[in-house]
Amino acid sequence: MYDLHVHTLLSDGEMLPIELIRRASVLGYRTIAIADHVDQSSLAHVIASISEVKEAALMYDVRLLCAVELTHIPPALIAPMAEKARGLGADLVVVHGETVVEPVAPGTNMAACACEYVDVLAHPGLITKEEADLAARNGIALEITSRAGHNRANGRVVAYARAAGARMVVNSDAHAPSDLLDERARLCVALGSGLSKQEARLSLNLNIEDWMKDKGHINYYI
Ligand SMILES: [Zn+2]
Ligand SMILES: [Zn+2]
Repeated sequence: MYDLHVHTLLSDGEMLPIELIRRASVLGYRTIAIADHVDQSSLAHVIASISEVKEAALMYDVRLLCAVELTHIPPALIAPMAEKARGLGADLVVVHGETVVEPVAPGTNMAACACEYVDVLAHPGLITKEEADLAARNGIALEITSRAGHNRANGRVVAYARAAGARMVVNSDAHAPSDLLDERARLCVALGSGLSKQEARLSLNLNIEDWMKDKGHINYYI
């Protein structure tokens, strides 16, 4: 089990990174990407801080990926910031997409899907065919989310991702302990979003390492 989008005290989450890792480990997760909200003010220190926890996470049998969620960044700055994040050692770059419940700048989805340094477009909301096609071409995963509010558009995200042949990932966007999904809840989110059983299996068991290799991420640390 993986979750590529969770938050800690490094942004607006409620847990220390290691508490989150411990709770995730007990639920059966083996890959977790801590993707705290960042803007220009916090990018470097969040990446450095998450990286400090990797060794401890392994002691709980969790491979911790150092990620960031580029949040409310002006679209023109998303690509340079994603490249900078990778240069600073981020294993994974998530972009806070155009969710239907926040005034995320129009053009955010497009900027993310066009950028090879982006790995996951979170809660893309009313995604377009053009955006989904670009995501597929650039190996960017489109997120199916259990987060209340963001999840209103899951059905549309599945339909457009499927048509485009884009990868789909199921994430919790957890901020509190109770937001983490157990195995059954994860499956419910996948099936409830319209994935078939086979699509759900593929998505929920996505081999993160192979995907990163496909993307040519040479600083992937395993
Ligand atoms: Zn977000
Ligand atoms: Zn988030």
